[in-house]
Amino acid sequence: MSDFQGKVVVVTGSTRGIGAEIARQFAHRGASVVVSGRNQEKLQEMERELKEIGVPVLAVAADVGKADQAQNLIQQAIQTFGRVDVLVNNAGITRDNLLMRMKEEEWDQVIETNLKGTFNCIKAVTRQMMKQRSGRIINITSVVGQMGNAGQANYAASKAGIIGLTKSVAKELASRNITCNAVAPGFIETDMTAVLGENVKESLQAQIPLGRLGTVSDVAKVVCFLASEDAAYITGQVINVDGGMVM
Ligand code: NDP
Repeated sequence: MSDFQGKVVVVTGSTRGIGAEIARQFAHRGASVVVSGRNQEKLQEMERELKEIGVPVLAVAADVGKADQAQNLIQQAIQTFGRVDVLVNNAGITRDNLLMRMKEEEWDQVIETNLKGTFNCIKAVTRQMMKQRSGRIINITSVVGQMGNAGQANYAASKAGIIGLTKSVAKELASRNITCNAVAPGFIETDMTAVLGENVKESLQAQIPLGRLGTVSDVAKVVCFLASEDAAYITGQVINVDGGMVM
């Protein structure tokens, strides 16, 4: 498939996990891909892997929570490829703790990376997409932003914030032919969930109607759909990829 040939896609947090798979799937479909993250070594590995697929690739180190680094990421993408068609805000972290024990820095770090990072990248790309009179913004939220979760007040707040941000951006930019949607994964097998014990995983699995944890590919396919021509009339939506956890 080469339906994204000539399209430029920026994926934040694409050095591993869901973001890496999103970058891979866009590359397999012919897109020029900008990969990003903070870990230089992993970033170079991803750059090499994607180049082997045979598409143009740019790797830019950036901490999305820092406005200047988010701006630099988008600027470099524009300087290299001349445009940005798709921005996927995927970079995210957890710093779990019960509210009573949650430190101010645990709150701040999660809000800065997940919510402010998403805002920073959207702000950086908006002028270019408005000039193009087209663009797709896809933000990765979580079922936890919809349901809440004990021990994740900071993470749930950041992900619920992303949903409000998504809908507001969708309304502001619709007249410029820019769509903005969110994808809400349930429990997906990545480094983020690898820290959970086997018994926690088993009890989670029991809450999932489809009876299994999700894969990175389950999420990446929906992100690619939202970036495709087939999703041209979808904006301001949250699409759950959660095996039926939230319905
Ligand atoms: P991982 O921990 O496996 O990967 C996170 C990615 O984000 C890495 O590439 C990491 O790269 C990058 N990252 C972290 N902080 C920053 C930062 N400040 N600036 C730039 N990049 C950063 O997570 P997942 O793949 O599991 O999660 C991806 C997204 O999906 C997150 O937003 C997460 O909240 C969401 N999600 C995940 C679920 C799951 O079950 N796994 C469920 C629901 C949502 P580096 O370390 O190089 O900076």
